[in-house]
Amino acid sequence: MLKTTTVVVGAGHCGLAMSRCLAEKSIDHVVLERGEVANSWRTQRWDSLRLLTPNWMTRLPGYAYRGNDPDGYLSASETAQLITDYAKETAAPVRANTTVMSVRPVERGYLVQTDQDRWHARAVVSASGASAVPRVPALQHVVPAGITTLTPMEYRNPGGLPDGGVLVVGASASGIQIAEELHHSGRPVPLAVGEHVRMPRTYRGKDILWWMDAAGVLDERYNEIPDLPRARRLPSMQLVGTPERKTLDLNSLRRLGVRLVGRLAGIRDGVAQFSGSLANVSSLADLKLGRLLDTIDTWAAKARLDGLEPPQRFAPTEVPTPARLTLDLRTREIQTIIWATGLRPDLSWLDVPIFDRKGRVEHDGGVTASPGLYLIGMPFLRRRKSTLIDGAAADAAELTSHLLRHLDAT
Ligand SMILES: Cc1cc2nc3c(=O)[nH]c(=O)nc-3n(C[C@H](O)[C@H](O)[C@H](O)COP(=O)(O)OP(=O)(O)OC[C@H]3O[C@@H](n4cnc5c(N)ncnc54)[C@H](O)[C@@H]3O)c2cc1C
Repeated sequence: MLKTTTVVVGAGHCGLAMSRCLAEKSIDHVVLERGEVANSWRTQRWDSLRLLTPNWMTRLPGYAYRGNDPDGYLSASETAQLITDYAKETAAPVRANTTVMSVRPVERGYLVQTDQDRWHARAVVSASGASAVPRVPALQHVVPAGITTLTPMEYRNPGGLPDGGVLVVGASASGIQIAEELHHSGRPVPLAVGEHVRMPRTYRGKDILWWMDAAGVLDERYNEIPDLPRARRLPSMQLVGTPERKTLDLNSLRRLGVRLVGRLAGIRDGVAQFSGSLANVSSLADLKLGRLLDTIDTWAAKARLDGLEPPQRFAPTEVPTPARLTLDLRTREIQTIIWATGLRPDLSWLDVPIFDRKGRVEHDGGVTASPGLYLIGMPFLRRRKSTLIDGAAADAAELTSHLLRHLDAT
């Protein structure tokens, strides 16, 4: 059996950020990775995807963006390269092509069983990703035969789909970006819209994420917000990274010709049924955007920034009236359904009693009830930005301090 002080599971940016912080404290560790470094960026992203965070936000412990386009947005392959370079630069002790099959508590730590070997470690950090597997509704089982279904993890480009219309289910970042791309490829695209987070790309002349960063919104802490479970369930922001910094929201999609419908509520006898809540969920998203802009304006007034454009409010989301409530999937108008309905972690390899009744790991800012077992990279783990690349540095530093105290005490 191999021995180390800490096993980190996963060599995405979170595992590598953790590795860098552990190395800084001279904590012996390995990073076990089932594929190559940045596996998810290499294997699970569609061709045209760009980060929705600007380049200057690609900050990791000991690393800041050095290119000549701080306001641009990296492609998925550039992101994979950046993470790979970071692993090299930090000399992270990554063991690639090593899948962790199980982790279970044993005397003085954990037994980590991989498909290659066994490790004993006093502490384990799961950095295996919050977006490991698609959340697909049970409705997938009643989709009429002959319709192709896939998730954004499997989607690559419009050319890979059968000819014909595509129903995109879900209007968060992935859903709106894929719906736009498919529409531009000449296909009819209905977009089923549930709860969503509306964002303009720029506000008062600056990237909206610049504002959220500067005003401290992204730094809001998990133990200081009123409804943490809800905040952890929030879908991704409706944003896209393009050279012209365009806003992609329901209004712009509608103007292009994408057909907005409500949340997909059922499929009965081959007919898709949409909820009548489209106007309500859109008003709610407009309201929340207004509140965010209020926060930003209040902060800007206090910060007395020079040369800013004046405050602005965006037109309410226009929804079709009456909204379409059904779509007959038997007519073959729709040949493909894309489930852009979210992603979830896969922690099934954790053989430790820390799961709640819904199968979610219970944790306090990444610290589980099993001493020496930590999580990083989960939604709102310690801050609003915990799942963003920019969120890893602060979370990894705090978890490392906790882990160090655990090692000292045991
Ligand atoms: C479509 C999409 C777009 C995104 N865009 C942005 C963006 O613009 N800006 C931003 O900041 N963030 C973005 N994110 C969020 C986030 O930065 C990424 O999801 C990021 O990949 C998460 O990093 P991570 O290190 O937590 O997990 P991952 O990158 O998923 O890394 C986890 C690693 O663990 C490995 N692993 C999993 N299970 C095991 C196991 N049992 N044994 C060994 N290895 C294992 C995986 O192979 C993987 O390499 C996006 C996410 C998605 C899904």
